[in-house]
Amino acid sequence: MIPLASGERIHLVDKKGRVYRLHLKAGEIFHFSGETIAHDEIIGLEDGSEVVLSRGIRFFALRPTLAEYTLHMKRGAQILYPKDLAIIPLWADIYPGATVIEAGIGSGALTIPLLNAVGDKGRLISYELREDFARRAIKNIEDYFSVSPLNDRLLVRNQSIYEGIVEEAVDRIVLDLPEPHLVVPHAVEKLRSGGIFLSFLPTVPQVEKVVAALQDARVFESIETFETMLRPWSVDGRSVRPSLRMVAHSGFITTARKVTRLVREQVPEASSFDLDT
Ligand code: SAH
Repeated sequence: MIPLASGERIHLVDKKGRVYRLHLKAGEIFHFSGETIAHDEIIGLEDGSEVVLSRGIRFFALRPTLAEYTLHMKRGAQILYPKDLAIIPLWADIYPGATVIEAGIGSGALTIPLLNAVGDKGRLISYELREDFARRAIKNIEDYFSVSPLNDRLLVRNQSIYEGIVEEAVDRIVLDLPEPHLVVPHAVEKLRSGGIFLSFLPTVPQVEKVVAALQDARVFESIETFETMLRPWSVDGRSVRPSLRMVAHSGFITTARKVTRLVREQVPEASSFDLDT
């Protein structure tokens, strides 16, 4: 067990599930509705411990999950929702040790699960046009990891990915920006054979453009597009039904696999009649 420590941001959750955010600092006092508790009484406790304020209000002291952390972190750009943050690393097949290109970094919400997925031996290179967004994202990422991943397994490039990708033979390319079709020619050049291209896009015309670009490039197979919907339910005694509100739309995910075609001389004679020309 790693005890709650001074400097951590935690959640105090009441019995109705309401969440109060608290930045733990030794020597400080938390005030709530006329009651108090010293941060020092919380520091050192196990994650999930119950705490009691001066006149009896009780809370559970919990470390935020990554989904909660990303929803609350400071934003430059619009962030991806947890449902998409959960799906993207698996559908892009990010694996430990992979070299992954991301663009843009935005607020860094996707960067964190991508770093988790590449692990200690992987590398993530994130292209971001706006320096102010990059700075904000780095701050969010450093606050999340106790050891800064910068310069070690994370490199942030303050440049447009539409102009090109510096790295060679990359394993995966993950894009959350408006014109991923402009990245397709660079993916043709810099993605290794067997590598995966993934883009997240909010509107249909954008999807049409990226799919057309992938098809025209002639080196992508398994070009697939889908969306996900997460519908929360309210389960309360005999009232068991979908919640009244949900996020009805976030974006479409398109994936494609880079392949290497046989050059004509390598195709065996016998099968030349059924060549797809
Ligand atoms: N996935 C991010 C949000 C990305 S928002 C998150 O969850 O936090 C889109 C980002 O792409 C913005 O920060 C924008 O500045 C950046 N961007 C747009 N065009 C770009 C380009 N050509 N090259 C690099 N970054 C770009």
